[in-house]
Amino acid sequence: MSVFAKIISREIPGDIVYETDEVIAFRDTNPKAPTHILVVPKKPIARINDASAEDARLIGTVLLTAAEIARKLGIDRSGYRLVINNGRDGGESVPHLHVHLLGGRALSWPPG
Ligand code: AMP
Repeated sequence: MSVFAKIISREIPGDIVYETDEVIAFRDTNPKAPTHILVVPKKPIARINDASAEDARLIGTVLLTAAEIARKLGIDRSGYRLVINNGRDGGESVPHLHVHLLGGRALSWPPG
């Protein structure tokens, strides 16, 4: 069971900022920006590479949820970045699909 599944099931605590039946969002414990939220589908899809067509609506919901949280936290006008890390070279460390919502400072491009 991944660490995010444990947060979903309340086995371990998370700093939860948003939750529905399908999606949960909580603050990253090792933030890379002043605002760093992880937006996570509750369905245990390991990574975007393992998602299928039947997950299309759910993944759309995750992205729109990230935008809604950005608005609620007041970083929609200054801007933000959504990131999905996939696999070893992508820097994935938790095998449960999640979108990073990063903002609150100017982010450089390209990422390292
Ligand atoms: P990734 O490297 O894309 O798989 O992102 C995983 C993220 O999860 C990292 O930014 C970690 O800091 C974060 N993380 C790991 N454990 C926890 C936790 N218990 N609560 C919140 N964030 C976590």
